[in-house]
Amino acid sequence: MTAAQARRVNSSGTLTERLVDQAGDGYIDVRWDAATACGDSEEGRITTGCVISGSPLTVHLQAEGQVSGDWERKMVVAHELAHVYQHADARRFEDGEGDADRLLEQGLFQGSAEKMADCYALTYYDQASLSHQGVTLGYGYVCNAAEREAIRDWAAAIDAPMPG
Ligand SMILES: [Zn+2]
Repeated sequence: MTAAQARRVNSSGTLTERLVDQAGDGYIDVRWDAATACGDSEEGRITTGCVISGSPLTVHLQAEGQVSGDWERKMVVAHELAHVYQHADARRFEDGEGDADRLLEQGLFQGSAEKMADCYALTYYDQASLSHQGVTLGYGYVCNAAEREAIRDWAAAIDAPMPG
């Protein structure tokens, strides 16, 4: 069994691992070590996850028990997967600037890679808001229709998953 095949088998039985496995076909690894791996987040915020540029195929998440529910799990995983795709996008180019960087330079997603990742999650799950049943995620900006269209085009261009 290759490492990718081993990862494709959902060893933890969790929703988050299943989502990552589906997206990455076994090539994206997930660890529930955000508290130690991700470093300090902004004051007052809990680090829900991160992708570290030195190991761009590993998604670090909060422990399952710290997550409020499946909506949060799905949105956080989609946000973190967007970072995996941003890294993969950038690596296609010698100068390390991907299509995502060009979108940010155009001012989309308020020029923020984090707000772009939020927009990927919002678009992927067709959500109107970053809040759900008292839980608010993300960086406080809900992207508009034009930005969601840009996300869809970007996902298609880099062969990232996107329903419909
Ligand atoms: Zn992020």
